[in-house]
Amino acid sequence: MPELPEVETVRRALAKEIVGKTIKEICIFYPKIIEDVEQFKQCMLNETIHSVDRRGKYLLIVLKHWTIVSHLRMSGKYFITDTNQVYSKHVHVMWTFHEGSILQYEDVRKFGRFIVLSNKDVIPYFEHKKLGVEPYFDTFSIERFKKDLQKKHQMIKVVLLNQHVVAGLGNIYVDEVLYQSRIHPMRVASDLNESEVEQLHYHIISIIQAAIQAGGTTIRDYSSLGEQGNYQTKLCVYGQTGKACLFCGHTIEKIIVGQRGTHICSHCQRMTN
Ligand SMILES: [Zn+2]
Repeated sequence: MPELPEVETVRRALAKEIVGKTIKEICIFYPKIIEDVEQFKQCMLNETIHSVDRRGKYLLIVLKHWTIVSHLRMSGKYFITDTNQVYSKHVHVMWTFHEGSILQYEDVRKFGRFIVLSNKDVIPYFEHKKLGVEPYFDTFSIERFKKDLQKKHQMIKVVLLNQHVVAGLGNIYVDEVLYQSRIHPMRVASDLNESEVEQLHYHIISIIQAAIQAGGTTIRDYSSLGEQGNYQTKLCVYGQTGKACLFCGHTIEKIIVGQRGTHICSHCQRMTN
């Protein structure tokens, strides 16, 4: 599943291709991925794309009055083509622009979703979902993070995955962040001491930044608009089972935490602080 750095990479590529363009035609081949097909068509036809934004792992295609929320889930991808020939048999939505190019949405597993919101409903929509803050220095405060974690009596990995405290991290980046912070993923969030929370806060921001700069992680053929990220070459623990820990040489293990495959160095990441 694409996480924040991969979605941000798609956002940047998509923005370059479609902002300022006006939608001439929309073809929908698999309506089930759209919450309200009629509204989706009506609000987009002959409208100009103002911006492409992002909240957590959600892409926001912003028009004058409406916003299309696009959640890529497992396998959603966008492609730009110059003919209206479908890119693959898994293309479910196709937008033709007056300016000529074609935007195609492909989703092999069909878990992606499109939701239409009026622009004023976008902030309340994410508030209702209890989506946490963006993991950037200017939005993600250490004081707030400390307070939030004190109230969470679940495992820290589960807390970071559920998006309510901080948005955008999935399985890959949570494993990387906890490893760099030397925190066992099964530690109870409210039990972390002040310096551990500070480490965690620092590594969340810096790893997400580094991954965005690398264009995200490309595994299982996930690529955006044909671009390939290269953060997979910088992963230290995720997918490194059997390799030596960079800090201590102990073997990286794979365990299950909250039903998710989880990579740790059990020597560096202890259950006690
Ligand atoms: Zn280690």
